[in-house]
Amino acid sequence: MNALAAPPRNGELGFWVAQLADKRPSFPRFTGQDSVDVAIVGGGYTGLWAAYFAKKIEPSLSVAVFEAEQVGYGASGRNGGWLSAMPPGNRATFARAGGGLEASRALQQEFVAGVDAVLDILEAEGIDADQYKGGALVAAHTRAGLGRLVTRRDADLKYGLTDDEVHMLDRDEFQSQINISTVHGGLFYKHCARFHPAKLVYGLADTLTSMGVRIYEGSRVDSVADKTLTLANGRVTAARTFICTEGYSGRLLGRRSLIPVNSSLIVTKPLPEKAWQQIGWDGPQCLNDSAHTFIYAQRTADGRIAMGGRGVPYRFGSGTGGDGATAQSTIDLISQKLSSFFPGIPFEVEHAWSGVLGVTRDWNGGVHWDPASGIGASTGYAGHGVTSAYVGGRTLVELAFEKETERTTLPWVGYRARKWEPEPLRWLGVHAMYRLFGIADQWEERRGSSTTSLLARFGSRLAGLHE
Ligand SMILES: Cc1cc2nc3c(=O)[nH]c(=O)nc-3n(C[C@H](O)[C@H](O)[C@H](O)COP(=O)(O)OP(=O)(O)OC[C@H]3O[C@@H](n4cnc5c(N)ncnc54)[C@H](O)[C@@H]3O)c2cc1C
Repeated sequence: MNALAAPPRNGELGFWVAQLADKRPSFPRFTGQDSVDVAIVGGGYTGLWAAYFAKKIEPSLSVAVFEAEQVGYGASGRNGGWLSAMPPGNRATFARAGGGLEASRALQQEFVAGVDAVLDILEAEGIDADQYKGGALVAAHTRAGLGRLVTRRDADLKYGLTDDEVHMLDRDEFQSQINISTVHGGLFYKHCARFHPAKLVYGLADTLTSMGVRIYEGSRVDSVADKTLTLANGRVTAARTFICTEGYSGRLLGRRSLIPVNSSLIVTKPLPEKAWQQIGWDGPQCLNDSAHTFIYAQRTADGRIAMGGRGVPYRFGSGTGGDGATAQSTIDLISQKLSSFFPGIPFEVEHAWSGVLGVTRDWNGGVHWDPASGIGASTGYAGHGVTSAYVGGRTLVELAFEKETERTTLPWVGYRARKWEPEPLRWLGVHAMYRLFGIADQWEERRGSSTTSLLARFGSRLAGLHE
């Protein structure tokens, strides 16, 4: 990194949103009284997909989206830009929850199909979000990390992925795609596409407008009860309401059902062609690694690297971190990771930001529909949320309109994790887990051990992440 460089922009909802500041569609604030067939709380991908499929099921429905801030304010405008086939949770847990192995395989298949389904819709609707399906590479920097990838691939095959869809790469094969100096080998996943998060949000919002969906910004919903949404300056009656507020769900779904876990990103200035020749990465593969405190990255369409990781993991009392201002220590941590992957390449960080994921007590998401109250929710994606938002938003609509499909019987439909502990226990628990993961990474690196450290196993158990 260049020590003399100007400090990067920080927060401001992140680089993707800032880059499109003069192209952002804007929508009115809701005031007064209204009545709609479908009310949606939250203008991120889940809410927007739910609105899209409500209109697809029945174009004459009146559909309104109420967004507290601006569309894409949450994780949907700030994420790493991976459209991946990873389901939102542990496939073994979903298998145990009912339906067994076949049900979990069906979930995995829906997420594989979901990647192409989203890309097909973007093409059909003319949405250009820099999307490109180039797969994903997972790097192992330690022998223990490589061992975890072997185990992970075995599980992938068990849950229905094929050899063609996920395969191991040795060090040379990996470096021929992306020349990471520290890599021991890795995994390649076929079903993953890179995209520009804010372009996707705004493209969907424009499409919805042309379909007749009303979108309101600056319109926070304070409560939903008796088929009525109460806002600061108005009330709306709705036969069906979908709560799509992910990491911001505390107010409407309860602070102990889901917590906001922080994730942070940096983006570099565009790299010169010479640097790309050294790095390789001439395709649009997404990149992450098998560390316990993992990173995720993409090469952007305009030739930058966007890399994310975990900084401050959780704020006491479920704070959501406003516009995403990020501690310098986190920016340094992710920047050092990037430099260790590609030594000798001078990166300059242009922007750093953070956002929140919605995480349940066992890190498994769920889609819920209650016909009696007319309220549904799709949440808890824990960082695998882009395809989940599509599957979840679509499933909500199908459940609410009694359409039986391959999605309505998936094992995350109706799945509920137990509640999070009250504070200060949950703050202590999440921080302890990340601390253990950090120490475990250093331990595995220094020792060169081939097995996952006991500390990491204990951290996973603490978090409810174990099989
Ligand atoms: C830094 C980061 C990187 C990530 N990277 C990836 C990735 O590369 N791939 C991936 O698959 N997933 C990723 N995720 C996760 C993914 O982005 C999210 O799971 C997904 O965007 C969630 O979409 P959503 O619509 O459910 O929630 P959000 O996008 O969070 O939207 C919720 C919206 O609800 C609004 N809201 C909240 N309360 C109210 C209220 N009371 N009234 C009205 N509106 C309200 C909020 O303002 C917000 O706009 C990442 C997340 C983060 C934070």
